[in-house]
Amino acid sequence: MKKITGMMIYYYFVCHRKLWFFNNDLTMEHNSELVSIGKLIDETSYSREKKNILIEENINIDFIKDWKVIHEVKKSRKIEKASEWQLKYYLFLLKEKGIEIEKGILDYPLLRKREEVFLSDEDINKLKEVIKSIEEILGEKRPPQMTKKQICNKCAYYELCHI
Ligand code: SF4
Repeated sequence: MKKITGMMIYYYFVCHRKLWFFNNDLTMEHNSELVSIGKLIDETSYSREKKNILIEENINIDFIKDWKVIHEVKKSRKIEKASEWQLKYYLFLLKEKGIEIEKGILDYPLLRKREEVFLSDEDINKLKEVIKSIEEILGEKRPPQMTKKQICNKCAYYELCHI
């Protein structure tokens, strides 16, 4: 079983089917203009901070400040719940390694907004359930059933699901 990455946690809250495609290396995101825009934001924002810190292949933190606050940079608040859980997962993994991080911050440079994210004991229990559920989804031979959602129109897998 592959290590559960932050991106997997994110996709779990976006769409289980998308998570399955992603895990099976059906990556079409490079075709998406939105992803290119995201990369551009990433490259041009917060240039003075320590950026893109990779820990054990499954944590890729956008940037970290004094080992107290971790930041995740996003372009829009459309799927904020997924972004929050991705950041909580990073806080959880670092906590498991004995690194106590004070809080996470979701940064939206295009919107000039930020949101603080904290990890509670309840969140830890929920994350453990989510990890179990992700392992089950990834263990399936076929992708989960498609359910039409609002985000489908902007999803890189739109053609796989709807055409
Ligand atoms: S098009 Fe919709 S159902 Fe298909 S992977 Fe994307 S979000 Fe999920």
